Amino acid sequence: MLKGRLVKGIGGFYYVDVDSDIFECKARGIFRQMKITPLVGDYVEISVLDKEKRIGVLENIMKRKTELIRPSVANVDQAVIVFAVTHPKPNILLLDRLLVLAEKEELDILICLNKMDLVEESKEYKTILDIYYNSGYKILLTNYKDDNSILQLNEMLINKTNVFAGPSGVGKSTLLNKIHPGLKLETGSISMKTARGKHTTRHAELISIGKNSWVVDTPGFSSLNLDPIEEEELPYLFPEFISYLEKCKYSSCEHIDEPNCAIKEALKSGNISESRYSSYLQFVEEIRKRRRY
Ligand code: GDP
Ligand code: ZN
Repeated sequence: MLKGRLVKGIGGFYYVDVDSDIFECKARGIFRQMKITPLVGDYVEISVLDKEKRIGVLENIMKRKTELIRPSVANVDQAVIVFAVTHPKPNILLLDRLLVLAEKEELDILICLNKMDLVEESKEYKTILDIYYNSGYKILLTNYKDDNSILQLNEMLINKTNVFAGPSGVGKSTLLNKIHPGLKLETGSISMKTARGKHTTRHAELISIGKNSWVVDTPGFSSLNLDPIEEEELPYLFPEFISYLEKCKYSSCEHIDEPNCAIKEALKSGNISESRYSSYLQFVEEIRKRRRY
C-alpha cells in the first residue's frame, strides 16, 4: 500500500498525490456502505492496480485532524486571512468574523495585509496593526510587487495545508499566483470567487506548493454565518480575552453588563481594544437572534 494525499475528487474518482505522482482511484465499496465520503485533504492509503497508468484503489482514510465545511476540505492547518490596506477599504467586523470562524476550526492563523504599496492611501492601517498585534495575531505585510514579502509569505506556508480567506479584490489570487506561478488563477474582475462559475459545482482542490506544503484553490469560509458557534464558546474565540475569563466575578458572566467583569475592566484599561469588544457584542447579538428562530 502507498500513502498519499487526496487532492481532488470528480465524479466518483479520487486523485491521490503519492510523492508528486497522481493516481486515479476508485474508493472501496465499504466507504459507501459505511457512509464515509472521502474528502479532499484526506491522508489516505491506496493499493495500486496499474503502476504505469497510475490507477489505484482507495483503501484507507486516516483520521481527520480538522474538517472544513465550505469548502469541504480535511486536515487544513492554517487560515491565511487576506485583507488589503485599501482598495477595498478594510472591514474590521468582517475580519473579526473570519478570525472567529478560523479559531472555531482550531486553525493556525496568519493575517496578511496586502497592497502595502498603497499604504499612504489607507486611513485604517495603523489602527489595524494596533488592534491585531495587541490581540496576539501574526501579521504579515505584503505587496505583490515586493518579492521579499512574497518570499516571507511563502515561508509561512511551508509544512502546512493552507486555506486563503478574505473579501474579494484583496489580492488572494494574485498572491497565490506569485507563490506558485503554475497556478494561473484568474485575477481582477474574475477572481478566485467568481471564477468558479454559477452553474458548475466545482469542488476544492489541493495544490502542492512544495514538500508537505499545500494550498486550497478555493477561498475558505464562503459561508460567513456564525451557525457553528455557541454563545458560551464565543469569548474563547477571541484569544486576547482568554486570560481574563476566569477572573470575572460571576462564572456565568456574559461580559456585557455584569459587575466586576474582567473583560470590561481590560477594556477600560486598554488591554482589550474597543473594536474587538464591539465585534464580540455584535456576534453575541447575532447568535442570540439565531436562537429565537
Ligand atoms: P482576490 O479577489 O482576492 O483574488 O483578488 P485578486 O487577486 O483578483 O486582485 C484584485 C486586484 O488587486 C487585481 O487587479 C490585482 O492586480 C490587484 N492587486 C493584488 N495585489 C496587489 C498589491 O499588492 N498591490 C496593488 N496595488 N494591487 C494589487
Ligand atoms: Zn465578564
